[in-house]
Amino acid sequence: MAGEPQEDCLFCNIIAGKIPADVVRETDTTLAFRDINPQAPTHILVIPKAHYKNAAELAAEAPQLAADVLAETRGVAEGESLESYRTVFNTGTGAGQTVWHAHAHVLGGRGLNWPPG
Ligand code: 5GP
Ligand code: ZN
Repeated sequence: MAGEPQEDCLFCNIIAGKIPADVVRETDTTLAFRDINPQAPTHILVIPKAHYKNAAELAAEAPQLAADVLAETRGVAEGESLESYRTVFNTGTGAGQTVWHAHAHVLGGRGLNWPPG
């Protein structure tokens, strides 16, 4: 059921402390940790502690939690002293989503071209 922890979900297991992560921020409802395969000098993932499969499901079923995640992306950027940064939600396989627990990527610390090269 949406929102419930999933045993086979990587990010639910990070939240549960079963898989280690380099955590940079935590609130009652969100967790932020460094991406294991960083695409920029700063690459941090912000996730809701409740399980939703992606940003679309999160926005539809838990809009306040989606707002919490977005607010935390700002907190991450401030904590990392990023003046400029990119916030990305990959939604669906065709967009590059590989982990099926909603997450925002916060990327910064280098120039970011648009569209990505
Ligand atoms: P997606 O491709 O679904 O938008 O993003 C998933 C992200 O999770 C990828 O950037 C990937 O590097 C990251 N990732 C995958 N496995 C782990 C892990 O075990 N720990 C951490 N910290 N990040 C992971
Ligand atoms: Zn999960």
